[in-house]
Amino acid sequence: MKIGFIGLGNMGAPMAANLVKAGHEVTGFDTAGVTVAGVTTAASAADAATGADVVITMLPNGAILRAVAAEVIPAMTKGAALVDCSTVDVDSARAVAAEAEAAGLLAVDAPVSGGTGGATAGTLTFMAGGSEAAFVKAKPLFDIMGQKAVHCGDAGAGQAAKICNNMILGVTMIATCEAFALADKLGLDRQKMFDVVSTSSGYSWTMNAYCPAPGVGPQSPADNGYKPGFAAELMLKDLRLSQQAAESADADTPMGQAAAALYAQFVEAEDGRGMDFSAMLPRFEKRGRS
Ligand code: NAD
Repeated sequence: MKIGFIGLGNMGAPMAANLVKAGHEVTGFDTAGVTVAGVTTAASAADAATGADVVITMLPNGAILRAVAAEVIPAMTKGAALVDCSTVDVDSARAVAAEAEAAGLLAVDAPVSGGTGGATAGTLTFMAGGSEAAFVKAKPLFDIMGQKAVHCGDAGAGQAAKICNNMILGVTMIATCEAFALADKLGLDRQKMFDVVSTSSGYSWTMNAYCPAPGVGPQSPADNGYKPGFAAELMLKDLRLSQQAAESADADTPMGQAAAALYAQFVEAEDGRGMDFSAMLPRFEKRGRS
């Protein structure tokens, strides 16, 4: 396929490289002037999109996605697919899909999980929203860049799945970290805490697979000085998107709201920026009740 790839950052560059490796003809564009081996560099997003069967975007946020979409949609050939893999707000995802469809294009919102490691290894999970025809067109590319692609529903459903998952993740990480900090103050050994909780009703992915306590459970960023992994500021971004969606859908999400406020404090007023999101544990450890 002829593929236009817009946004060649930490995630986009290795994803584009995997498409090249699989034999696709990829033309890329990034405002930072990033180049990727095997990817033809275009002078603009519209140039990268011209004549492409599929245009993939991997951008920082919804406002940038809307601006890029306004530029590439008129340049694309009818019947081609616009596949956005960025994590953005549901409203932007739906607005871009509507514009693309009005121009005779197929559209998929397909945010990913798996981080830069998954992007490099080609083992991402894609959660996709859009028509069946759009999903079918993008699926062979998802299979190259990832190991699983779930068609979640209509436009915006991929973003909805992503932010609901990450809202659970943020809330659960905080609960796990505050429980460890309480256990410390009660004189409970962390290994014993892990042994009990990981096999009891308090178990979770954050406890069992990504334990925030160093030296306990499987290897995780806690064992590497809390170097990300998944950075606290990215968790904050996703929690804010969940609260923006909750506002617009009139959903009551008190735990998600509390998690967003705590990560905001951690990233913006404390030393959380650049740390893994599990570094909530040393944060709680240092604090008292007030
Ligand atoms: P990044 O900042 O490394 O990459 C974004 C790229 O977009 C940058 O290279 C930037 O120069 C480029 N860009 C910005 N505006 C542009 C424009 N108008 N035209 C063309 N290029 C433009 O970010 P990333 O880590 O690659 O993440 C990309 C998206 O994937 C984000 O939405 C993020 O939330 C999501 N995501 C990231 C991870 C992760 O672990 N990094 C995991 C899952 C999802």
